[in-house]
Amino acid sequence: MTANLLDYDLEGLAGYCERLGEKRYRATQLFRWIHQKGASHFDEMSDLAKSLREKLKSSSEVRALTVKAQHISADGTIKWLFEVGGGDVVEAVFIPEADRGTLCVSSQAGCAVGCRFCSTGHQGFSRNLSAGEIISQLWFAEHFLRKHLQSADRVISNVVMMGMGEPLQNYTHLVQALRVMLDDHGYGLSRRRVTVSTSGVVPMMERLGLDCPVALAVSLHAPNDALRDNLVPLNRKYPIAELLQACKKYLQFAPRDFITLEYCMLDAVNDSPAHARELVQLLTADGDATWCKLNLIPFNPFPASGLARSSHKAISEFAKILMDAGLVTTVRKTRGDDIDAACGQLAGDVKDRTEVTKRMAKQRVIVLTPEFVQAPKPVTERANG
Ligand code: SAH
Ligand code: SF4
Repeated sequence: MTANLLDYDLEGLAGYCERLGEKRYRATQLFRWIHQKGASHFDEMSDLAKSLREKLKSSSEVRALTVKAQHISADGTIKWLFEVGGGDVVEAVFIPEADRGTLCVSSQAGCAVGCRFCSTGHQGFSRNLSAGEIISQLWFAEHFLRKHLQSADRVISNVVMMGMGEPLQNYTHLVQALRVMLDDHGYGLSRRRVTVSTSGVVPMMERLGLDCPVALAVSLHAPNDALRDNLVPLNRKYPIAELLQACKKYLQFAPRDFITLEYCMLDAVNDSPAHARELVQLLTADGDATWCKLNLIPFNPFPASGLARSSHKAISEFAKILMDAGLVTTVRKTRGDDIDAACGQLAGDVKDRTEVTKRMAKQRVIVLTPEFVQAPKPVTERANG
């Protein structure tokens, strides 16, 4: 198969150009055409020599994922389903807010970790996405949104690796894609605005700190090993003490001075005041409550889980106990749940026809309407955060 130029970070593309007998700096021009201008045809790349364009045409392409469907939520959230072959799809979700535009990106088709409360986990693991397939989600979303919002400015200011899959179990491709996101000739996102979320692949957390220290979120979900073993099976391999140690180590490299800890609020499973107190003990054991920020995520139910979302009352009582102990705590606002775009609802399961039909009936499946064009506003970079 011909090379996919979306697979390369700038360094990789420079190597590719060299192999074609071209100067390395040509790669910068090419990279900017692809990622900054969204070009996918070499003839668009007007300042590249015709001879180079011909060489590129015969050996490579800009091969983005194809969009199978696009769903727009009443709150402006947009979900795209991308085909990745073999009947699998992965999903990316754009979340517009007043001061930022966030894209939630998938790293794998399915996931091998198998968390009990996660619909992707229930689906099982199909395969790792290539670097090109990961960056393709941003490439498509950014240029699609720019075009349809008629924006000359960047629309996506933040990326969270919180879609389908465990990013640290697809480490090499993840890091290649992150490099493209961060590169000034690519998307130019700051390290603070790119977040990798992990269920706790301890050795890879350390490597990420060395190779590409972006912001880190860790899915904790339980204050003790017995409960976490049950919710996040990977805990049996990397228990909480090792995980927290890895978090603290990561702080030496992190672009922010805290790690985000995600905690999915499950009714009568991990949401009691006793759990909250145990969590306080765990996180402040060395007398410091400032090294992390808690993000409580109301569970987004799906039928096969057999689990329910904690009540508002339970969530606010839980949050109060944490805050009273000095732990910075936020409750995540659920976005796009009318289109199954909320955390953990990304099953991407087109194999289940009945489910898809049910979903389609429930959702507005929009291709492109003037209503969409007006929906999210382009965002401009904030000075901080
Ligand atoms: N695999 C990575 C990133 C993808 S999941 C990880 O687990 O961190 C992104 C976040 O959504 C994680 O914190 C995950 O625990 C959470 N999540 C998964 N299923 C959920 C559900 N049904 N409701 C709410 N949050 C969920
Ligand atoms: Fe995988 Fe994350 Fe879902 Fe767990 S929560 S199954 S690690 S995607």
